[in-house]
Amino acid sequence: MQMVDLDDVRWNGGLFGERYTACRDSMIPYLWTVLRDPKDSHAWDNFLMAAGLGEGRGDGRPHGPPFNDGDFLKWLEALIQAEAVSPAETAAATAAVGMPGVDDIIAVIAKAQRDDGYLHTPTIVRQRRSADSAKEFADREHFETYNMGHLMTAGCVHHRATGKTTLLDCGRKAADYLDRLAHEKPEELARNAICPSHYMGAVELYRLTREPRYLELARRLIEIRSLVAPEVGGDQNQDRIPFRESREAVGHAVRANYLYAGVADLYAEDGDRSLLDPLKAIDRNVETRKRSVTGMTGALYDGASPDGVPAKLHPAIKTIHQAYGRDYQLPNLTAYNETCATIGYGMWLWRMLLITGEARYADLFEETLYNGILPGVSLDGRSYFYVNPLRKLHEFTVPMRWSRTRMATIPSSFCCPPNVARTIAEAHNYAYTVSPDTLWIHLYAANTLDTTLPDGGRIRLRQETDYPWSGAISIVIDEAPGRDVTLKLRIPGWVRQGDAAVTVNGTPCSPPPAPGTYAVVSRRFVAGDRVEVSLPMQATFMEAHPAVEEAFGQVAVRRGPLVYCLESNELPNGTHLADVVVLTSESVDALTTLPLVIDGRDVLAIRAAGAVVERKPWTGDELYRPAPAAPPKPVPLMLIPYYAWGNRGDTEMTVWLRAR
Ligand SMILES: [Zn+2]
Repeated sequence: MQMVDLDDVRWNGGLFGERYTACRDSMIPYLWTVLRDPKDSHAWDNFLMAAGLGEGRGDGRPHGPPFNDGDFLKWLEALIQAEAVSPAETAAATAAVGMPGVDDIIAVIAKAQRDDGYLHTPTIVRQRRSADSAKEFADREHFETYNMGHLMTAGCVHHRATGKTTLLDCGRKAADYLDRLAHEKPEELARNAICPSHYMGAVELYRLTREPRYLELARRLIEIRSLVAPEVGGDQNQDRIPFRESREAVGHAVRANYLYAGVADLYAEDGDRSLLDPLKAIDRNVETRKRSVTGMTGALYDGASPDGVPAKLHPAIKTIHQAYGRDYQLPNLTAYNETCATIGYGMWLWRMLLITGEARYADLFEETLYNGILPGVSLDGRSYFYVNPLRKLHEFTVPMRWSRTRMATIPSSFCCPPNVARTIAEAHNYAYTVSPDTLWIHLYAANTLDTTLPDGGRIRLRQETDYPWSGAISIVIDEAPGRDVTLKLRIPGWVRQGDAAVTVNGTPCSPPPAPGTYAVVSRRFVAGDRVEVSLPMQATFMEAHPAVEEAFGQVAVRRGPLVYCLESNELPNGTHLADVVVLTSESVDALTTLPLVIDGRDVLAIRAAGAVVERKPWTGDELYRPAPAAPPKPVPLMLIPYYAWGNRGDTEMTVWLRAR
């Protein structure tokens, strides 16, 4: 399976079309104003200073977190993608904030890069003042390989979008630098492979150029991980044990998911089975024990790797930031679920889908996209979640390190906003893939496709649907090669057995399609052929495995690919979210939908029967007290899609509802 070209798919309205438009017209220009602002991010100033073109704050020093370069490059990737699909609108949106053109930005990046290919502006800025003032790889938390990995990826995207080599040359130079280091100082390089975007970057370079040395580089980068000394390695960066011995998702979730995605990329190209077995075991561990119902990962603010070392080494246990917890350890109020961790999980799932063709990966990918990544940004595109709680209560007054409302800027860690922007800007690339004489349809949404199959032959079609609000999809063929072509149509696992149907020009396909598979339609398509896919959606109460302590006795509501939540805006005045229960037996037939507008955007809300327990307020001095004896009073509930919460003030919210 391979992806289609960057501009082969265009959204045509619908939820993704609306999110794309918000990305192009709001997120991308807004993020530029943050990235260029010395008070907020300083990322652009660091590039200018490294290029010898600016003075920054005037103190001659770089500012901002060490991963700033990579985050700027993620934003640049979003911009390049938007220009590929809608150049005029993107130009208008970015001109409004006085942004330089992409070519000018790339020229600065190229000037900032050292002749030997190294690019990490904090070091280069210091070295411009004095060659000895900073050393490369002085601290493994400097994220140098992460930054250079994003340079490699952005260079590939730019070349695919424009045919130009300006940024691609920068990416190649960075890869060549890492290649030399992988041979000359492999231990040092392996030790500094923090949040390894460079594995994906090297494979992407190989796919674009077909130069075997880049695939060799990716292989070597992953092999040298086993050289990390035990006293340095740890689950924080998944280098406590060699990757091939790993069977469980551990440690810092962004770093873990980037590693797993990079290894999946390598496997996709070289077919080394010894990489696939651990990947599948880890993936199964996440799917069945370590992901939230919204498809997010990395649930804990602070975790550890207590099971990773023998008991006698108790003092060696290390704390881990934004960690994968133990199996079933999935809190709600204090969930970390960094948006970047979920994006990393999505990239990994996508690669597992490309490798295996298994529909369950497309299900998980879609779940993550709608419920884990879209919530990362406000509907207006101007504020962002770094952490993503599944519940927010005003009674929970414990100060946390990160805001649990969206923020316009996140000065100390601006990684998520550009990552969300590039994922939304590129989401249309995930709707289809192609293999010889086969077109796979993974995501349903209103769009048009115009692509060429690997064996030749143009295919043009359009999807007419308002998915994810309904499961009725019409696929109209506008042009097809004059030979048999196979359509593989994803039938999501959430469809009830026997409910899905596929027809071609009104004739039902036989046998009926099974949920969790791809329905196969092979024929010599002609213009005007119409394939109808029916995926009936019922709102459904979901429960968690009883070992998920923080969802015990509770239910979540899901309809189609969307997970819903209850936000306090929908409750009568004075009602505390903590006092609400959902009456599941009375709701089974009452889970009806109704249209709702949130911040100017149309969504479909879900009604449920609920009740509220009348309580006196908690004073904060009580931890336990007798429960109220009065029966709960009925109250109608209205749930909204989780991705749309937090757009109407400082509200309370919960995904998991106490069930009665
Ligand atoms: Zn992030």
